[in-house]
Amino acid sequence: MVENNWLKELNKVLLLIIGATAIGWLIGAPWRSLALGSLLYAGWTLLQLKRIHDWLIKNTEEDPPLGSGVWGEVCDRIYHLQKRQKRIRAKLESDIAYLRDSFASLNEAVVLLHDNSTIDWCNEAAKHSLGFRYPEDQNQYLLNLLRDPAFVKYYESNNYQDGVEIACPINRDRRLFVQITRFGKGNRMLFARDITELHKLEEMRRDFVSNVSHELRTPLTVISGYIDNFNMFVSQVPKMEKPLQQMAQHAKRMESLLRDLLELSRLETLPHEMHKTVVSLSQLSKIVVEEAKGGIPNLLHREITLTVEDDISIYGQQTELHSALLNLVVNACKYTLEGGKIEVRCWKDGNGAHFSVKDDGIGIDPIQIPRLTERFYRIDKSRSINTGGTGLGLAIVKRVLQRHEAELDITSTLGKGSTFTCHFPQHRLAP
Ligand code: ADP
Repeated sequence: MVENNWLKELNKVLLLIIGATAIGWLIGAPWRSLALGSLLYAGWTLLQLKRIHDWLIKNTEEDPPLGSGVWGEVCDRIYHLQKRQKRIRAKLESDIAYLRDSFASLNEAVVLLHDNSTIDWCNEAAKHSLGFRYPEDQNQYLLNLLRDPAFVKYYESNNYQDGVEIACPINRDRRLFVQITRFGKGNRMLFARDITELHKLEEMRRDFVSNVSHELRTPLTVISGYIDNFNMFVSQVPKMEKPLQQMAQHAKRMESLLRDLLELSRLETLPHEMHKTVVSLSQLSKIVVEEAKGGIPNLLHREITLTVEDDISIYGQQTELHSALLNLVVNACKYTLEGGKIEVRCWKDGNGAHFSVKDDGIGIDPIQIPRLTERFYRIDKSRSINTGGTGLGLAIVKRVLQRHEAELDITSTLGKGSTFTCHFPQHRLAP
């Protein structure tokens, strides 16, 4: 079609040249006739161009100007191209309107952000939970409106895998869970959910556990005291020996359970803090290994080796770290058979400081690993109870590490052994 029109136009030009030359030859002025013909053609072409130009500038909703040959085709093509783009734009606009309508009807606050962290759009719920108004706050810098330090840290970290819990900016009694997701080219979307009820329930649960543990402590101390007293009369009533032994054993187990429960609820209620005291991780590693070697009577037949780089210090809390690291070493001893080998390492590198405990013990099925740090999660309950376990040890370890911005990494092969590694971030290293 295009080629056809071009050929027609070419023919037209050739005919004009031949015609003008022939007429010029007949009247005895071929060059002037040819020049006049060319001028006429240029004038006609300019006229076509002007019509297209006027049409494009004026209103392309109108039908294109009628033109013949190549010019007519150029108009048609521009006209169809524009119509198609309009259709696509209308479809996109209706899709966006549909999505905004869906977001607008959500109970969760939704905020769309430009790639320069300014607000593009937000729904009605964002007004009630974050205090944002649309369109007044459009193009406002997000961090100027949402200044909670925890949120600023989360936003600037660029790691949006987990969300962050913050106090509601317009009502400090309410709590929000905020999460960011990425979309498009550098755009981000913010979701905020009201979790006040959940937060209250969690607080109630913590208070309940903490209160019950406190209340149980006193009667348990009395019972343990009586058991100790009764032990003095065992020689007179020999058949009481076994029951008393069992009672003492269970009372001891309950005591460790209450101790761990109280420790966990203490750690959970403590506010997150940036520790300022320096703890020598190298020294602590040596201490916990010595304690594990000497202090666990049933577990003496394990070989513990220690490889430690000197001068590794981090900002932290000595007692908490001591309990977490000791827990890992004691676990390695508990879940390793007699004669087993345990390697404790402490080192630092470009990513921070690390402490690991590797054993060649019974190992863990990889399916169980994600649940190990849950409270009371035990793989083999009877074995754990036999070794004096409460099922709270790793939950405490996890909580202590969280308070030190550290992570617990667990790798294990069933029947071959496990490695528990604590990673402390670079900025926690003390000079
Ligand atoms: P517990 O007091 O029962 O040892 P923990 O929270 O310390 O509780 O550990 C949870 C469970 O994880 C344990 O019951 C045990 O099954 C498993 N576990 C922990 N450490 C090891 C290890 N080094 N090797 C094998 N299993 C382990």
